[in-house]
Amino acid sequence: MSNKTVAVIEGDDASPEAVKPVIELIDSLNLGIDWIYPPVGEPGEEKYGSTFPDEAKEMIDSADTTFFGSASSKATFALLHLRWGKQTYANVRPSKWIPGYHSNLADPSGIDFVIVRENLEDMYLMAEGDVEDLAPLNMISRLHKKKLEDLGKGKFAIKVITEERTKQVAKFAFELAQRRKCKGYQGKVTISSKYNMMPKSDGLFMEVAGEVGKDFPDIKCETILIDNLAHQFVVAPKSFDVVLLPNLYGDILSDECAGLVGGLGLAPSGNFGHDYAYFEPVHGTAPDIVGQNIINPTATLLSATMMLDYLGFKDEASRVEKAMAAVYAKGHVLTPDQGGRAKTTEFIDAVKQELR
Ligand code: ATP
Repeated sequence: MSNKTVAVIEGDDASPEAVKPVIELIDSLNLGIDWIYPPVGEPGEEKYGSTFPDEAKEMIDSADTTFFGSASSKATFALLHLRWGKQTYANVRPSKWIPGYHSNLADPSGIDFVIVRENLEDMYLMAEGDVEDLAPLNMISRLHKKKLEDLGKGKFAIKVITEERTKQVAKFAFELAQRRKCKGYQGKVTISSKYNMMPKSDGLFMEVAGEVGKDFPDIKCETILIDNLAHQFVVAPKSFDVVLLPNLYGDILSDECAGLVGGLGLAPSGNFGHDYAYFEPVHGTAPDIVGQNIINPTATLLSATMMLDYLGFKDEASRVEKAMAAVYAKGHVLTPDQGGRAKTTEFIDAVKQELR
């Protein structure tokens, strides 16, 4: 296999403390990966006077993928490029409990599902404004029986669900369920939204995704209201396989699901388009623990194994996951969020030991 190039954005606050040792670990596998570092955020500002200079964009575009630590608002333009520029329409967020993860649930064993979140539209269009500007639309709130502009001084946000995007992400979710079924999973997609209150927008999501499901007769398809889903995640988390959600609900509920298995430090993600993907932990920059070398690198490491899988290094991805699982199973070298006293780098060293 020819060398692969990975663009690395280390992120801000405590994020580089997780990203650096994870890259070191992956690099020690000698897979022939070239790591390049686009000047995004402060480095870009210092060298080129921009948080996302052309040089950074070119490096990201030339790479096979991007590995993105959690970043502050200074990396916003890079993130916009990776998501909307590269059209990475499917955000994949697995929730899998393994022995040793410190979940608050009495019995988390068997939790193993994946949220597929639509990544490009819904409430994330950044299209907001003043309520009074809605007057030309001449729309009436069916609930208040009032013109929108007469509701009072305030702001609005636009939610858009399109057929095209919903089809795209639904197909991705059903194909993922098929691949998982081959590995012994249920072969089920659960589709959810608030289709009773938003029958047009959220209703369209359900309708289009359900139609896509008909092309996958081997995969079960169930629908559930989003509030019930939030409840079911807590009371029956083992019943899920692939869960397909619009952008906002997917963003919010995946943090809940990270909580189910043991916290944000354990939740990885991948963002997939047709010809590009980037990988990042679900958590933020953890500014409250910066400089202490205690950030849990598990989410970052699992994002890296998702990336290895994407790059074609499937066996190596599985080797790293097994080594990490062995560290959790032994339970001697865990970071404070998992009830241990180990430093970030000690945890990574323990994983390296298991790889030997
Ligand atoms: P941001 O604004 O970047 O989202 P935040 O503090 O609002 O930052 P997170 O960074 O996700 O949100 O952190 C939420 C809490 O979870 C913090 O107390 C943080 O220390 C903790 N946390 C997040 N990720 C990890 C991790 N990998 N290891 C340990 N603790 C973490």
